[in-house]
Amino acid sequence: VPVNYVAAIRDIEFALWQQLAIETNLLTQVAYEHLDVVTVNDALKRTRDFALDVLGPLYQSSDREGAELLPDGKIRLPQGFEEAWRLYKDGGWAGLSIPQSEGGLGFPYVVSTAIQEMLYGANPAFMTLSGFCVPLYFLLKKYGRAELQAAICPSLATLDWTACLCMTEPDAGSDVGAIATRARPLNDDRYAITGTKHFISAGSHDLAANIVYVVLARIEGAPTGTAGLSCFLVPRYRIESEESGADNHVRCLRLENKMGMKGCPTAQMGFGEHGESFGYLLGEKPHRGLLQLRSMMNQARITTGVFALGMASSAYLLSASYAAQRVQGTNQRMAFSVSAPRVRIVEHADVRRMLLEMKCTVEGCRALLYKMAYYGSFIPAADAVEHPDSPPWRRRLLIELLTPVLKAYLSDQAWRISELAIQVHGGFGYLIDGLVEQYARDVKVLSIWEGTNYLQAADLLRDKLGFGKRLTQLDVLERQILDELADAMLPEFADLQQQLVTALARLRETLGNEWEWVRKGRVDVVLLHATRVLRMFAHVLLGWVLLEAACTAARARSSCAEGQELITFYEGKLLSVRFFFSHLMPMVELDASVIAHAETSLVDASTDRLIEGMLP
Ligand SMILES: Cc1cc2nc3c(=O)[nH]c(=O)nc-3n(C[C@H](O)[C@H](O)[C@H](O)COP(=O)(O)OP(=O)(O)OC[C@H]3O[C@@H](n4cnc5c(N)ncnc54)[C@H](O)[C@@H]3O)c2cc1C
Repeated sequence: VPVNYVAAIRDIEFALWQQLAIETNLLTQVAYEHLDVVTVNDALKRTRDFALDVLGPLYQSSDREGAELLPDGKIRLPQGFEEAWRLYKDGGWAGLSIPQSEGGLGFPYVVSTAIQEMLYGANPAFMTLSGFCVPLYFLLKKYGRAELQAAICPSLATLDWTACLCMTEPDAGSDVGAIATRARPLNDDRYAITGTKHFISAGSHDLAANIVYVVLARIEGAPTGTAGLSCFLVPRYRIESEESGADNHVRCLRLENKMGMKGCPTAQMGFGEHGESFGYLLGEKPHRGLLQLRSMMNQARITTGVFALGMASSAYLLSASYAAQRVQGTNQRMAFSVSAPRVRIVEHADVRRMLLEMKCTVEGCRALLYKMAYYGSFIPAADAVEHPDSPPWRRRLLIELLTPVLKAYLSDQAWRISELAIQVHGGFGYLIDGLVEQYARDVKVLSIWEGTNYLQAADLLRDKLGFGKRLTQLDVLERQILDELADAMLPEFADLQQQLVTALARLRETLGNEWEWVRKGRVDVVLLHATRVLRMFAHVLLGWVLLEAACTAARARSSCAEGQELITFYEGKLLSVRFFFSHLMPMVELDASVIAHAETSLVDASTDRLIEGMLP
């Protein structure tokens, strides 16, 4: 049985080379002409080796050791992180998606997503240390003044400096508009930042020569609420030439004691308490903070999905491998025979049920995440090549629509799959000597950070779908699904295609009904349904990409010579798809009927009823 991370390299290759056919569809684009099959495969294999040999072995030990704030204010990271950081930095992984013209490797987004899946899957606490470097790089390229870009971007691309996002405060979590951190204009172009942020991932460490804090704060006199927030870049050490390297008075006040992700220092950070913390306004105009951070937040939401997928995939593979070795019970088809042979637990129907739920969910989530990243990969190429069939606006719109679904559904599934992994391992899964209990502790945060999963559901239903009033985005998605399937479909899957079309119709009908609730003045009822609507959406999307995968796998299977090793892989994919459509897709119907039933007592009841008689 494997002792640490397991990479799903075969399925990753299937998704890239077969389902998305990136060799012909993507690597032929002008933006990627410096790449070919060999360079991409080398990068995948090099990443898998780094994940297996360097990051995976530190997964459990870094959890046991954790990070610690020392009396002198320095942070002690888990053993091995410093060396792993040096190898990661020298390996150039940070520059994967940075264009070649700017010194990066210029890989398509879909390939860097596959690479990130393995890195996050092997050691998410380590990966979180560099999590905001590339997103800040692109944020600065989009909004930053030229001198700020020149001062910061090159060091982020090489990981000489790192970055953190500082939004959350003790009284401002989901309610970002309550942020109290202040920014006082100075006589030059700088601001003095004062306030406390908590739960800041990788908030303090000495791996990098400097840390750039992306701080949301309110300029004195600015409006209240989100409209008055501005975005500042606050370096840990000053960056102007005359005082370069001087202390900028950013302090780590304490490290949070967390249930998981213990190797990553999650910090409470104080700005401007013991001297002035200088910050630079992002862009030319104030009060644009939230708008500016949108693209970076969306990127972070997708990375949350990547992290979720990496861990869920490994949890599945560890469980499958355990179930293939653990012997318990006898052959169920010979239930009444005393001579029934003892079997491995993978033979039992209920263990297969768990493994197949994990397998089809992981494969569906991977196919969906990569599909989104595949659309994103055309965005740099769009200037060079025109796609009349699928113009850039259409791809952007699909990415926007998919982002909250990927964040929320993949993170919920990572938690579900970790739980199933514990169940498959039985009592051994509950022991801390195994890995899977740590998976559950580590992935739980994914449904909380980067906007809780409820906020994702509300974003989908309210902001993307206009509470069901504007279904243009759904129209575009539906057209994309039907167009792509028309090219891929095989007659043997006509029953599944029909099921998908019915599910799409149920989703459309449900959304139409939501708008009726809004017209009756009952937005609260619509928001009560938001989480179910997101799940309906996710199941429809998974149905789509899994059906596409089934067609790809069936074609590949039919061209395999008998006895070829890959046959079982393709047949396993067909098994996943059939399981998804028979066991999980029916949830769309369930969610639609719960919503249609419109039980409103939950929102109508007085708050006392939830609490009275329950609390001592
Ligand atoms: C390990 C870890 C790392 C983190 N890293 C960072 C970081 O690097 N930078 C950063 O800025 N933050 C970070 N965070 C903070 C994280 O983003 C917040 O915890 C998250 O936004 C939720 O805020 P909260 O904890 O205050 O919960 P609350 O906002 O208090 O939410 C509590 C519950 O109420 C629900 N709720 C709240 N408001 C509403 C509403 N209007 N309608 C319906 N339901 C609602 C929520 O969905 C949730 O279920 C991190 C958190 C953790 C645990």
